[in-house]
Amino acid sequence: MGTPNVTLDQEINPWEAQSARFEFAARKLNLDEGLWKVLRSPSREIIVHFPVTMDDGRIEMFTGFRVQHSMVRGPAKGGIRYSPDVTLDEMRALAGWMTWKCAVVNIPFGGAKGGVICDPKQMSQGELERMTRRYTSEIIDFIGPEKDVPAPDVNTNEQTMAWIMDTYSMHMRQTVTSVVTGKPLNIGGSRGRQEATGRGVRVACDESLRYLSMPIEGCRVIIQGFGNVGSNAARLMMELGYKIVGISEQDGGLFNPNGIDIHQLVEFKYRNGSILGFRGAEAMPSEELLVSECEILIPAATENVITSRNADRIKARIVVEGANGPTTAVADDILAEKRIFVVPDILANAGGVTASYFEWVQDRQGYFWKEAVIIEQLEAILRESFDDVVRYAEAHNVNNRIAAYMLAIDRVAITIKQRGIYA
Ligand code: NAD
Repeated sequence: MGTPNVTLDQEINPWEAQSARFEFAARKLNLDEGLWKVLRSPSREIIVHFPVTMDDGRIEMFTGFRVQHSMVRGPAKGGIRYSPDVTLDEMRALAGWMTWKCAVVNIPFGGAKGGVICDPKQMSQGELERMTRRYTSEIIDFIGPEKDVPAPDVNTNEQTMAWIMDTYSMHMRQTVTSVVTGKPLNIGGSRGRQEATGRGVRVACDESLRYLSMPIEGCRVIIQGFGNVGSNAARLMMELGYKIVGISEQDGGLFNPNGIDIHQLVEFKYRNGSILGFRGAEAMPSEELLVSECEILIPAATENVITSRNADRIKARIVVEGANGPTTAVADDILAEKRIFVVPDILANAGGVTASYFEWVQDRQGYFWKEAVIIEQLEAILRESFDDVVRYAEAHNVNNRIAAYMLAIDRVAITIKQRGIYA
C-alpha cells in the first residue's frame, strides 16, 4: 500500500500518511468516483489572523486554523493544538483522520482539527488565555454543540477547554458546556475521560489475544511512552495479569523480564519527573525496546516511530497503536509481510473520542453518569468496533488498518448517499 521509493520526509508527512490509506481503501471498496471526490477534500477550511496583547503591552499577530473535514454524520469533532509547527496541511490530514476514527467506532460525529501557530512554552498563562479567547471568537460562527466540538490536543488541556467554553458561553449569553469536551469535571467534564484512551488500548489488547487464541497470562508487553495513554494502559493491563516488561520514554527506557510494577513506576515518575533511575528494572535504550522480544508492542508516544528504517526488526506478534500515526504507510507493508497483527490507531486509541462523545451527551442531558456506566459503555463500543473491523478484514481479505478505513469510508459514504447531494 505504501508507495515504494519515497524519501523519509514523504514517508512521515501526515497528509501522505492519511491519503495513502484513504486512496487504497477507497479503491478496494470500489468507491463511487463522485463520493471519492467528496471525501478526499475537507468541507471547510478556516484561516484566521488575529491580534493578542502580550504581557509587555506589545501587540502580536497569530494565525489559527480550523479544518472541518466532514459533518455528514453529525457535528465535527477534533482537537485544537498549539505549536510552532502547525500547518494547514497537517490540520487537513488530522481532520480527515478524525472523520474515519469517529466512523470506525460508529459515534455520530464528523471530523475536524484546529490549531494556532505559536510557541506556548514562551507564553504566560495570561497570554495563552487571551490568545485562546480571541481565537475562539474568530471561529465562533463555525463551532457549537451541533456544529463542531473541539477538544484538547498537543499543548492544550482542560484549562484551554474551560476558556473556550467560557468565551463561547459569553457570546451566547448562556452557559453552553457541550461546545467542547475534555473540560474539568466541575464544569461539565466526564468521569473516566482521563484514562479512557488507555482503557481502550487495553480492550484492543484483550480482544486481539482472544481473536488469536493467546492467553493474557505470561503475555509480555512493551510500551513506548509513559504519558496519559501509555501509563493508563500499562496500569490497567498489569491489573488484568499482563506482564509489562518494557517501558520507554523520550529520555530512555526500562526493561524487566519479570514485569515492571506499574503502580510504583507511576509514583516514581510523579515524584521525579522521569522514569530514569527506577530501581525495579534495568535501563535500556528506547530504540532497542521497540525491537525487543514481546507478544504486544504498544507505541503510545508520538507519530512515525515504526518506519521503513526499523519495521523489519520488530519482533512483537501484535502491535496496538495507542499513539496517532505511529506507523508509516511504507512500514505497514513490512509489518503485513511479517504477519504482525496490527490494531490501527483509528480503532486502538478511539477510547478517547468515545469518552468525549459521552461527555457531550451528558452535557446536553444535564445528567452525569457514574464511572461504572461509562466504563461499561466504553468497553462495549470498543469491543463491538474491534469485532466489526476484524470481520471486515476477513470478509475482504485485507489487513486491519485497511479494513478499519474501508469500514469508516463505507459508513460515511452510505450516509452521504442517504442524505443525497444538496444542490
Ligand atoms: P503525553 O504527552 O501525556 O505522553 C506522551 C509521552 O511520550 C511522554 O511521556 C513523552 O515523554 C513520551 N515520548 C515522546 N516521544 C517519545 C519517544 N520518541 N520515545 C519514547 N517516549 C516518547 O501524551 P498522550 O496524551 O499520552 O498521547 C500519546 C499519543 O496518543 C499521541 O500520539 C496522541 O495524539 C495519542 N492520543 C492521545 C489521546 C488522549 O486521550 N490522550 C487520544 C487519542 C490519541
